[in-house]
Amino acid sequence: MGYRPTIGLEIHVELSTASKMFCGCPNHFGDPPNSNVCPVCLGMPGVLPTMNRQAYEYAVLMGLALNCRIATFTKWDRKGYYYPDLPKNYQISQYDLPLSSNGYIDLLVNGQTKRIGITRAHLEEDAGKNVHDLPGCTGVDLNRAGVPLLEIVSEPDMNSVPEVMAYARSMRQLVRYLNISQANMQQGHMRFEPNISLWVFDDAEPDGGHYTPIVEVKNLNSFRSLERTVAFEIDRQAGQWQADPDGYRMDKMSKQNRGWDDVREVTVYQRHKEEADEYRYFPEPDLLPVEIDDAWLGRIKAQLPELPIARYARFRKEFGLDEKLTTLLTSERGTADYFEAVVQAGASPHRAANLIQSQGLRLANERGTDVAGLGISAERLAGLCKLADEDKVSATTAAGIFQAMLESDDPPEKIAQDRNLMQVSDTSALEAIVAEVLSENGKAVADYKSGGKKAKKARSFILGQVMQRSKGQANPKVAGELIDRKVLGQT
Ligand SMILES: [Zn+2]
Repeated sequence: MGYRPTIGLEIHVELSTASKMFCGCPNHFGDPPNSNVCPVCLGMPGVLPTMNRQAYEYAVLMGLALNCRIATFTKWDRKGYYYPDLPKNYQISQYDLPLSSNGYIDLLVNGQTKRIGITRAHLEEDAGKNVHDLPGCTGVDLNRAGVPLLEIVSEPDMNSVPEVMAYARSMRQLVRYLNISQANMQQGHMRFEPNISLWVFDDAEPDGGHYTPIVEVKNLNSFRSLERTVAFEIDRQAGQWQADPDGYRMDKMSKQNRGWDDVREVTVYQRHKEEADEYRYFPEPDLLPVEIDDAWLGRIKAQLPELPIARYARFRKEFGLDEKLTTLLTSERGTADYFEAVVQAGASPHRAANLIQSQGLRLANERGTDVAGLGISAERLAGLCKLADEDKVSATTAAGIFQAMLESDDPPEKIAQDRNLMQVSDTSALEAIVAEVLSENGKAVADYKSGGKKAKKARSFILGQVMQRSKGQANPKVAGELIDRKVLGQT
């Protein structure tokens, strides 16, 4: 007997619209509690919601990026809940007619492509937040109530922790590429709910087998907790099945919800899962259905950028970059755009990629920005790449100039000249220095010329003298060639 984890993932993504889903309140994190509220998102009786068109377009854009079928007709539904952070006692969502369905996303897992089905992606509104850090009571902050929330439901196509993580990270990358969410985990912009069960099978009977009861783990708000939760649940369910092979199976036990205890690093039982009809879904009477025509859909389609996996493949092919460098450069759209602009401006792809990796990403990270946010234009960086490609500055010096460019608007060539960092490759200038050094070091010249044991050491010594006299600016390759020619008569 063996088992294979079977995992589906629901992801909630807050969309970065200016205002909320059904009212004009600002969609803005971090403001004083209950400052971004109005009668609509407070759930006062008799108010009328109005749909945020931008949020709808963002959701359709994501549906397109996930290769979904986009519904031409959708409606809104009320999903009944009673929670302190949901004063309306219902959430406006999409039940039987989601705006997108039947899609997929391709992931790269350990160099292999894996396709994960997307069941549906629909829009709804977020709830408020209970605040537990007040002395002696719990507060309710409704600034988040009504923020547009995109729920993306996958098929149970993932079979391992690395696949779940690749899927979750690809979703974050995708919403950032589309510029529809900042996907900032610390601000709760993305939350995960994995559905986990094991397919238990007998090797001798490939058609036989059964599932362990499905467990849904609610509200995970970090990649770390997602990773640990899934790994923990796989082990826990395997243990349960081994202890009770006949009873611990989906057809004998209902689904359950569990929560993740971050301190003890275990999942804990919450309740048996409610079935959909317990939410008392019914059509939202205050909102019109949405009909999307070809012209509107066409305008949204036109906004689709090149998606991460396509861009990755193109960078590998077009620029001949390795997997690691390509992954880094395409991880964020802004970095990929910047890199391409630098190449467009005349830099060699390898030089540009290496400088962005070794200097750009590091410095951007230190300053809490992205590469483009460092304020070095693509043209200036291309100028630096060209200096290095033409051997006018060494690779080490190029790294130093990159940093200096953060503080100066001068062209890289001027920075190099002002700081005496240009390599001297000009043979006439170097020839004079080489001639001087050779005339002053007769013994070393003789040793080198003799070709004996001391020759190699003597050549290094002479080259060292030339480098010193040029104050480190001689191009070592050109200087070495000059020395060889003068001493050995080689061309
Ligand atoms: Zn409001």
